[in-house]
Formats: sequence, C-alpha cells, structure tokens
Amino acid sequence: MIRPILKYGDETLHHPALPVSSMTADVVQLIDDLIETMYAAPGVGLAATQIGVPLRVFVVDISIGRDPNGLIVMVNPEFVEREGMQLEEEGCLSVPGFNATVVRPQRVIVKGLDRSGAEYQREGTGLLARAFQHEIDHLDGTLFVDRLRGIKRDMIVRKIRKLARSGKW
Ligand SMILES: [Zn+2]
Repeated sequence: MIRPILKYGDETLHHPALPVSSMTADVVQLIDDLIETMYAAPGVGLAATQIGVPLRVFVVDISIGRDPNGLIVMVNPEFVEREGMQLEEEGCLSVPGFNATVVRPQRVIVKGLDRSGAEYQREGTGLLARAFQHEIDHLDGTLFVDRLRGIKRDMIVRKIRKLARSGKW
C-alpha cells in the first residue's frame, strides 16, 4: 500500500525510531509499503519514520527500479565503517522541491537485517553511501535540512514556513 509521506515540520520526523525486536508480519508489511511508496514517489530511499512508523527500517534503490538487484532493505541498520567525505546536492521526499549540498561520507559499510530477518552487510560508495547516511539520519530523527548551516538552512526553513502558511505544504 502506498502510504502518505510526512513533510518537514511534522514533529514525528524528528523523533528517533526504535529497533525492530522481531520480524513479524507487520514488519514485513511495513517493508512492502515502504518499497511501494518509494517507487511511486519516485525516490531513491525511504525510511519508516517518513510514513509515521517509529521503527528502524529503511529501503534504498539508487537505480529507482531499473536494476533488478538494486533494492536494499535494511532493518536495524548500523554503520560498521564510514570513511572519506563527499559534497553533493541532495534532496528528500519529506522536503519536496528543495535541494542543498550536504557533507556525507564517501564510503560506508552498513549491517542490518534483510526482509527474512537474516543479518547481512552492504558496502556503499558515492550516491549509495550518501543514501545510507541520509536514511539512517531519518531513523535518528534528522533531516538533511537539519545538517545545513546558516543562510542556506534559514532560506529553506523560511520558504517552507511561507508555503505552510498559504496551505501549499
Ligand atoms: Zn529523506
């Protein structure tokens, strides 16, 4: 089922998510909903917190469905390694219409559970490393806007407030 994606300003997005304690049917359903919602948007990643579910689950596909092996499901993700630095433009399905340059690691290794509950690791460089960091940030209650400083951040927040006041957010 496609679920509504919460937008910046919704308090739920800023609450850290809790670990999944067991792979119940509800968790599998959540994973399916995240996948369907991500592809429908379309986006390269979606975290459970973005659809209002406070559990540590995200899905990522930097090919947006073009690569049959592109889909990555991570339950209870944790960084094993993070190294280097990249500076690229980034956006977010919860902050539609806005982009900004965000500092991210160049390479990461993330471990977590797949949809069958088996532990595995994935290495990501470039865009995939960025996506992993972006989604784990969501699970910690952090949006890319929160990682910006100064004028750029103020500008985005001011524009969102203005859109919200006129009912367009
Ligand atoms: Zn996002």
